[in-house]
Amino acid sequence: MQDASCIFCRIVRGEIPCSKVYEDEQVLAFQDIHPIAPVHFLLIPKEHLPTLSETQVDHEAVLGRMMVLAPRLAREQGADDGFRLIVNTGRVGRQEVFHVHMHILGGKEPLGSMLPRPKT
Ligand code: AMP
Ligand code: ZN
Repeated sequence: MQDASCIFCRIVRGEIPCSKVYEDEQVLAFQDIHPIAPVHFLLIPKEHLPTLSETQVDHEAVLGRMMVLAPRLAREQGADDGFRLIVNTGRVGRQEVFHVHMHILGGKEPLGSMLPRPKT
């Protein structure tokens, strides 16, 4: 269920502090320690799941819960006119922490483009 050395599992267990945004029995949301937008928090399942590539049918409920919570929490954090949800996955997705997390990013002004477009 949990991984002893995983930093986000350690946050779930209260071994590492976080600035909590929301918590229930299945999920935890907390501020990203290095924000890249005025609103930038992470939403994670409490259960250790390394990457979105490893999801199975069993995870539908918690992942669905996260999707439904994201807009509500975004609004509550001040992203009231849209936001961006990012789930970096695996090597190509440049995932750094291997415990599934949604980045929720926003603010008052539009964010930068998703990825730089290749020059044509
Ligand atoms: P990713 O590249 O999607 O795996 O991003 C991992 C994110 O976790 C980064 O945005 C980090 O700033 C963030 N992060 C790492 N450690 C912590 C921590 N202890 N508390 C809050 N955010 C963290
Ligand atoms: Zn974990």
